[in-house]
Amino acid sequence: MTSRRDAILSGASRAAELHTELGLRKRLAAGDRPVDVMDVMRELGLTLLFRPLNSLLGAYLPGAGTPGVLITTQRDLHVQRFTAAHELGHHVLHHMAASLDTDVGYVGRGDPGNYDNQELEADSFAAEFLLPKWLIVAHAKRHQWGRSDLKNPDTVYQLSLRLGASYAATCWALLSNNLIDRVTVNALVSTPPKTCKQRAIPDFQPESWRRDVWLLSEHDRGVHVLGNPDDLLVLTLEEHVSSGYIWDVAPITTVGLLIDIDDRHDLGDGAIGGPVTRRVVAHGAAQGHIRLEERRPWSKADEARSIFEIDLAMIGSQPEGLPSWDRLIAA
Ligand SMILES: [Zn+2]
Repeated sequence: MTSRRDAILSGASRAAELHTELGLRKRLAAGDRPVDVMDVMRELGLTLLFRPLNSLLGAYLPGAGTPGVLITTQRDLHVQRFTAAHELGHHVLHHMAASLDTDVGYVGRGDPGNYDNQELEADSFAAEFLLPKWLIVAHAKRHQWGRSDLKNPDTVYQLSLRLGASYAATCWALLSNNLIDRVTVNALVSTPPKTCKQRAIPDFQPESWRRDVWLLSEHDRGVHVLGNPDDLLVLTLEEHVSSGYIWDVAPITTVGLLIDIDDRHDLGDGAIGGPVTRRVVAHGAAQGHIRLEERRPWSKADEARSIFEIDLAMIGSQPEGLPSWDRLIAA
């Protein structure tokens, strides 16, 4: 390998090849979930173990037999996922030396300077593997976000949650995929995600704004949410109360979520008897499928007016041991 530019290009192109080899582009075309990097490692026969590493984010150990990857338990889910993708990069790029990683990061954020080209190549792989343009576009399409929406930090924050990546990594991915320009990325990264969270739920004051806030709407029908137990899920659905239809939200609690808020807002168009917005805010270490129905409660025989289904894996950063979420979001 000759230059830093070659390293970046080679990492990214290996990621694109692997998407093709694994059929991921087709499997994720609906824009309904992030790349399941842990599941890909399993598919490729890598041994993955979470350990309380203090000075390292992760390590790649090529070994003589089964290659192995260690990831620290001391960091959040998004850092664990990016580190896992970086270590996967060392593997599929056939790096022969063990790599002990104290830092991994998004290549587009600027040149870390003291990096060797092999680390740069693995970072470039990780960014392209987790945040390829086609996946960003698939999620944007589902939510009807246009290019101008990608300048809005609130939209980018919601996109980052759906890609299973940090807000900052998502900003840099938008730049390197030419979806925004450099002026925009600078404005975006200077906006703390906390302000996006506060705007998402202005009437709620959690004890910590470290919690993520998911704004879920009809566009999220059928998606797989990968998040943390204390993330706030803000579900808003149109409800036709005046014609007697009400969302039965009871199934929300059966998967282990606790409801923080359950209220209704009118849509603000001034029409009397028009649909309202039903809002349910919930959190918890939920895993599983939820199916909600909007129906007339007294009329058992009636068809549901609409249905909302979603899969949740609110399991957070991985504890010591083998990965536990690998079959939860695999496409
Ligand atoms: Zn490395």
